[in-house]
Amino acid sequence: MSIETDVVIVGAGPCGLFQVFELGLLDLRAHVIDALPIIGGQCAELYPDKPIYDIPGYPIVGALQLVQNLLEQIKPFAPTFHLGQQVQEVQKQDDGRFRIVTSTGSEFLTKAVIIAGGVGAFQPVQLRLNGIEQYEDKQLFYRVRDPSQHHGKKVVVCGGGDSALDWALQMVDKASELTLIHRSAAFKAAPASVARFTEAVKAGKAKLLLGSVLGFGETDGRLTSLHVTGIDQAKHVINVDHVLAFYGLSPKLGPIAEWGLNLNKHQIEVDTEKFQTSTPGIYAVGDINYYPGKKKLILSGFHEGALAAFAIKHQLFPNEKVQLQYTTTSTSMHKKLGVSDTPEPIATN
Ligand SMILES: Cc1cc2nc3c(=O)[nH]c(=O)nc-3n(C[C@H](O)[C@H](O)[C@H](O)COP(=O)(O)OP(=O)(O)OC[C@H]3O[C@@H](n4cnc5c(N)ncnc54)[C@H](O)[C@@H]3O)c2cc1C
Repeated sequence: MSIETDVVIVGAGPCGLFQVFELGLLDLRAHVIDALPIIGGQCAELYPDKPIYDIPGYPIVGALQLVQNLLEQIKPFAPTFHLGQQVQEVQKQDDGRFRIVTSTGSEFLTKAVIIAGGVGAFQPVQLRLNGIEQYEDKQLFYRVRDPSQHHGKKVVVCGGGDSALDWALQMVDKASELTLIHRSAAFKAAPASVARFTEAVKAGKAKLLLGSVLGFGETDGRLTSLHVTGIDQAKHVINVDHVLAFYGLSPKLGPIAEWGLNLNKHQIEVDTEKFQTSTPGIYAVGDINYYPGKKKLILSGFHEGALAAFAIKHQLFPNEKVQLQYTTTSTSMHKKLGVSDTPEPIATN
């Protein structure tokens, strides 16, 4: 069964989120799809705790706080989020709509598509060992979907960031053997997690091996060991049932490049009136788009989203005259936003 809708937004980064608001003011509801299991794009994934200083009206705002504020702002327009699924296909149908298919098999039929895909979908950085990919999702995991499937197994966790340490800690007392392999003694993970894992090592509940995974062993089609060269150049063979590898995430333009849109290097060409791509009905806002003078800044994406929303309104309702209204004074906008027509005046000094 396809989900039928007016607009699908690909990407739940700051620009995709603000796009929901601009569409909502024009009575257009949106479904938002993101490959990540969390909302917020780069802000949430790459720098959640860092401050941003160039969002208009906010002298300083934390990246995650900005995402939370945007979620609060779009609440009246109740977007439907579809997370943890990458949009793979976008095809124009005979009736002018677009059929969208995601990696989890969800299907959408939509009149307009807005690509707010940033620098691409974030994918786990893979273990670069020839042939090891055959064990993916059987004995080699880049995401933990069901922690219990690793219980009672010889587990090796690879990496030194928060995900690696968090999952290593979760496996203490659950795995039959537990080893954390990291390439150096410098961890990116929270110091408290590193301290807790060090305690587990001291208590004999886990092992820590500093070195690089350079090979693996197999028997009868099963992954049986990882071959590690320590930072002291000593060779180790670690017996293993399951490998949980957390080497971080890297963005990949991925399937967007296959949708037949005109690209400029790795960005989608748009006009600066509607932010429409070379395919009418498909728009692109935020870091993913390209036009002369483009700057990959959040505030640029916000402006682009406003103009794309007006263009989509006109595309869907060509005979309707759309007036620009101020949220300050428009009674109909107050209704949409669920705010009072006569708010308390804002005090000025
Ligand atoms: C360390 C750092 C600091 C920064 N500081 C600032 C700053 O101070 N000020 C500023 O203005 N900007 C800053 N930026 C840049 C800013 O974060 C980006 O401009 C902004 O995130 C772009 O928003 P976006 O919504 O276009 O894309 P993104 O935030 O990249 O979000 C895009 C989303 O689309 C998803 N996606 C992509 N392809 C698909 C697909 N096929 N299917 C499903 N989902 C998909 C991705 O998973 C991602 O979640 C900074 C960036 C970094 C890395």
